[in-house]
Amino acid sequence: MKILLISDIHGSIEGLDACMAAAPSVDKVFNLGDIVGYGASPNEVVNKSRELGGLYVRGNHDKACSGVDSTDGFNMMAALAAYWTQKNLNAENLAWVKALPKGPVMARGVENVHCVHGSPLDEDEYIIIVRDAYEPLRQSTVPVTFFGHTHMQGGFAVENDQWATLRPGYQTKDKLENVELQLEANSKYLINPGSVGQPRDGDWRAAFAVFDTEKFIVTFYRVPYDVKTAQKKIMDAGLPDRLATRLTDGR
Ligand code: ZN
Repeated sequence: MKILLISDIHGSIEGLDACMAAAPSVDKVFNLGDIVGYGASPNEVVNKSRELGGLYVRGNHDKACSGVDSTDGFNMMAALAAYWTQKNLNAENLAWVKALPKGPVMARGVENVHCVHGSPLDEDEYIIIVRDAYEPLRQSTVPVTFFGHTHMQGGFAVENDQWATLRPGYQTKDKLENVELQLEANSKYLINPGSVGQPRDGDWRAAFAVFDTEKFIVTFYRVPYDVKTAQKKIMDAGLPDRLATRLTDGR
């Protein structure tokens, strides 16, 4: 079975469309949250996410944008974008975002895999460096956990107390590329497909991944997308400029 892993779309229909065009055909979709917030196309992205179906996990921005949670802890840009998104989502999509489930979520028919937005231990926690992965991986009861939230593609692995940080190495900065990661049977993994709509790992290209359950391979992808249009929509919507400009360098 092949599973499409998408996360942190953040209201970018340009990013999502580019990823879908680049993705191989898959059997299932895991959507790891932060579907909305920051970007200027929340309804288009929610419509597309609903159409894709599969498994969903709520992100902190999904909670803030739908009123499940307050914007406490958000910086000014994020809070402004959350208010804008709440105002601009149509009633049906707002209700759908509000009802997104809290992680960890297990996929029916896919054994030994958990899906979370932040950490398996706390949905809002960031796993940025290998130290952050210690407790989640120590306590994990499954070999593979997919997560998002940091907008950094890659992840962490442990085998017999040997810890590793995983970052796909790409050849170019502006072409469609993919990198395969063969998972090992005796290791435990935290894998982040990266952010579709607002990458922050220094690579501006939209990010996603595909998990092949039979071959036990995760393939990471980077996809050029129409950044200019995404930026123009953010500016035209009156959202903070920085939300547009940061897309150019992926930070
Ligand atoms: Zn996010």
